[in-house]
Amino acid sequence: MENQIYKYSEEFARELDENDPLRGYRSKFYFPKVNGREAIYFCGNSLGLQPKSVKEYIGKELDNWANLAVDGHFFGEDAWYHIRKKSKPALAAIVGSHEHEVVAMNNLSSNLHFLMVSFYRPTKEKFKIITEAGAFPSDMYMLETQVKFHGLDPNETIIEIHPRSGEHTLRTDDILNTIAEHKDQLALVMMAGLQYYTGQLFDMEAITKAGHEAGANVGFDLAHAAGNAPLRLHDWGVDFAAWCSYKYMNSGPGNISGVFIHERHAESPELPRFAGWWGHDEGERFKMEKGFKPMFGADGWQLANSNVLALAAHQASLDIFEEAGIKNLRAKSELLTGYLEFLIGQISGDSGILEIITPKNKQERGCQLSLLVNKGGKKVFDALYEEGIVGDWRHPNVIRVAPTPLYNSYLDVYQFARILEQSLQKFA
Ligand SMILES: *Cc1c(COP(=O)(O)O)cnc(C)c1O
Repeated sequence: MENQIYKYSEEFARELDENDPLRGYRSKFYFPKVNGREAIYFCGNSLGLQPKSVKEYIGKELDNWANLAVDGHFFGEDAWYHIRKKSKPALAAIVGSHEHEVVAMNNLSSNLHFLMVSFYRPTKEKFKIITEAGAFPSDMYMLETQVKFHGLDPNETIIEIHPRSGEHTLRTDDILNTIAEHKDQLALVMMAGLQYYTGQLFDMEAITKAGHEAGANVGFDLAHAAGNAPLRLHDWGVDFAAWCSYKYMNSGPGNISGVFIHERHAESPELPRFAGWWGHDEGERFKMEKGFKPMFGADGWQLANSNVLALAAHQASLDIFEEAGIKNLRAKSELLTGYLEFLIGQISGDSGILEIITPKNKQERGCQLSLLVNKGGKKVFDALYEEGIVGDWRHPNVIRVAPTPLYNSYLDVYQFARILEQSLQKFA
């Protein structure tokens, strides 16, 4: 499908849908309504849709709680004491890791702080952090306050990589050169895997290699990459990563995060960490004794016993991912986003009204396209919403649209294009 020929026609879009092996998954999700009509939902990058199976998964745990109460911790196959194991196969497939390298816990911002406790260990010589400019605000605040926690000045410690003038995304060479340039003082590279604003998917393998050559740890915030882009965290040698599960992973607003910790750190009790009883050796946990002994692998970073209801919703979604298959999802995603890109090109041509700032190269993006609106501004976006398109507007002038391969169709993309065309005619 390298040279897919696209057409701007409803008939063509319907034909693609008929030939889509994943078309059945759409009916497994609830779609919201806008102005009384089922929305064209392109906002899975912000909050994924609810799988219809969620109620049943949560209901089962509510029943266990009602019928078993405290015995639910140890009773049966799905005993809550072992519930963390359930999500591991699907999570490992999504991020490309071994099962012992991943665990679902806490929330994303909390997890990245906890991981930096272990993996950001500034010394007099090596203390700098490299990140991308314009990172998601939570990440900026995390870095700023971690640095201050160590008594350092953020302005002298955090190196932000900017796009070149006139460009919107980062060149891999510029990232690698910045790492090399600061290597004597570099402690950590921590950045997005997929940039939330531009939709750029970074070359995590090359960045990790460069970071390690500079003697630094390398970690990624995968909020926009997990469940969206192909990942091979283990093979790439990434030290740590974390993500949230409510964006592309459809697990519900604010739901549990996941972490990856490379197996080279699996048995490192000397790595400092902020521990809790749930990271302590499971066999001895209920001895309630002094002296923290971390569990093997990512489990050793757990703190608290998990919210079982949250995990149930998470599992409903993970089971869908496992069934659909990561490779199949990516294959459709490339075609679907390729179609969106093609149609936007048909509509705006080289008029300069719209500019796609997400990289053209499929290897450098997930499903999201970020459209710079050079004329018409937010009016264009508001008009889209009135017609039932749910995307999102990012200050000062970017519309992000993310057709996801699990629940969006080629017809969605076609209809979006028609409505966009009308909106541009009115306002741009
Ligand atoms: C969505 C997002 C977050 C959100 O963090 P929470 O702790 O889940 O609220 C953080 N970082 C990035 C890059 C994000 O895209």
